[in-house]
Amino acid sequence: MTFASLGLIDQLLRTLESLEYTQPTPVQAKAIPAVLKGRDLMAAAQTGTGKTAGFALPLLQRLLHEGPHVASNSVRALVLVPTRELAEQVHESFRTYGQDLPLRTYAVYGGVSINPQMMALRKGIDVLVATPGRLLDLYRQNAVKFSQVQALVLDEADRMLDLGFSEELDALFSALPKKRQTLLFSATFSDAIRQMAQKLLRDPLSIEV
Ligand code: AMP
Repeated sequence: MTFASLGLIDQLLRTLESLEYTQPTPVQAKAIPAVLKGRDLMAAAQTGTGKTAGFALPLLQRLLHEGPHVASNSVRALVLVPTRELAEQVHESFRTYGQDLPLRTYAVYGGVSINPQMMALRKGIDVLVATPGRLLDLYRQNAVKFSQVQALVLDEADRMLDLGFSEELDALFSALPKKRQTLLFSATFSDAIRQMAQKLLRDPLSIEV
């Protein structure tokens, strides 16, 4: 199994080569072709399985193909994560994998001043990694628009619920466009996560690794 056989473009293949990723992990082998096709996904995958590249690589490729045209204050792909640390880590992964692509990525989270985040969002962001509380604040202050969101990723969805983000998540879900691709990653699948999946995903591919 190679990354090329999964349908990734040369620019991404060269980056993976420079990172010495010789072979896709099992979650990448399943997720990448499905996400490239635009399918929804529900994946039971822990940290360390390579899940981040599993969603970041195909999302970057899809955004690139549609052209780097993001309007002011808009976002094209939204990645929700439970903590500031994970936001920084996932943002760093997008920067690494997208290093040769003309796409803008950014991360917002609570516990730091909101003004620099508002300024940074003005020019429009292709991939925004966010914790739910701060994102909702920014949305309510009109610093970010969701009308251009074509992909939503929920990373570590179970931890987001454990940390008490369900009200913020519901408010965000109702503000997002209904027509979009949605990818849900969770280490565990409780009833609450299954309900969320049922509400948010359309004909999802289920992956367990
Ligand atoms: P993740 O599960 O997304 O947190 O990734 C775990 C670690 O595996 C990260 O440090 C990645 O850089 C690394 N990684 C992801 N995919 C691959 C791969 N196909 N080959 C080698 N390392 C990888």
